Amino acid sequence: MGYRGLIEKYRKNLPVSDKTPVISLHEGNTPLLPARNLPDKLGFNGKIYLKFEGMNPTGSFKDRGMTMAVSKAVEDGSKIVICASTGNTSASAAAYAARAGIKCVVLIPEGKIALGKLSQAVMHGAEVLEIDGNFDEALNLVKELSSKYPLTLVNSINPFRIEGQKTAAYEICESLEQSPDYQFMPVGNAGNITAYWKGYKEYNKAAPEKYTLPKMMGFQAAGSAPIVEGHPITNPETIATAIRIGNPASWKTAEEARDESGGVIDKVTDEEILEAYRIVAVTEGVFCEPASASSIAGLIKYIKQGYFKSADPAKIVCILTGHGLKDPDTAVTNAVKPQKVKADIKDIINTIGF
Ligand SMILES: *Cc1c(COP(=O)(O)O)cnc(C)c1O
Repeated sequence: MGYRGLIEKYRKNLPVSDKTPVISLHEGNTPLLPARNLPDKLGFNGKIYLKFEGMNPTGSFKDRGMTMAVSKAVEDGSKIVICASTGNTSASAAAYAARAGIKCVVLIPEGKIALGKLSQAVMHGAEVLEIDGNFDEALNLVKELSSKYPLTLVNSINPFRIEGQKTAAYEICESLEQSPDYQFMPVGNAGNITAYWKGYKEYNKAAPEKYTLPKMMGFQAAGSAPIVEGHPITNPETIATAIRIGNPASWKTAEEARDESGGVIDKVTDEEILEAYRIVAVTEGVFCEPASASSIAGLIKYIKQGYFKSADPAKIVCILTGHGLKDPDTAVTNAVKPQKVKADIKDIINTIGF
């Protein structure tokens, strides 16, 4: 049999045993695409790779953590998993719970969830509760609920989530046969930057010469940038709903990843995010969701600032965390509308403009 998901592939690096029932949708093993046109477009002489996590089974990297969290929940005899979500965690939890044959309860913030993600959670049969509050309030509620009732929390404070998600760093190291020099990525609740750093450190420990440590470059949206501002944001706002988080659960470990790697955690505006979202779709044929594009927006910002020395062409990986089809509303609202033409060859040729 071929690829069977990341638990089977990386079993020896993960806290599983023969007794762990593996709940998998064959997640992971996502493409690491060398960018063909982006370096020229951005006037950059290094190499840029796109880790397209939108190619996971439910369309985001959350599946890497969820295969672990749900497998361990089932091993522990749990019958219900619960999470707070800006969308992708609920889509993923719902799918893996369905596969496991257990129940899934999700708390989502009022209004601000992309329709594609909500459609996944409801189709997979989750109990979806929309609270009159934001993500941070939803997370506080599920933490309390899971401490008092027999509900397994599958947000990224669940350590098994981080274990599963670190495998993306392994895949990058294996594809490149070395580590990148820099990794650009979005930061929301900050579990993912924590997980990547753990993964890179593990490979570094096993083969320090081959797998050096990349600088971790994390980007928050300007209206939801608690780590950058140095304090929680009570009413976070951004078009990038997946990172609309004012008080990240993994704040401290994100700062450790930044400081130990010599990287940065910075912010990009919604305009910069939307511009990057269009550029990567148009120049590379890769459609990611707005939150994912904050990695590209961060790279553009740092190239413009002259952060990279041209004498030393860097090898850069940008993490594209989720698929663009998750949030078609943002795409359609920000794109050129289709032109109306007659069902007539002449009219079509005139419009194309030969
Ligand atoms: C969850 C998510 C993020 C943020 O990841 P954190 O681990 O919360 O920092 C970024 N992009 C997408 C598409 C996501 O679903």
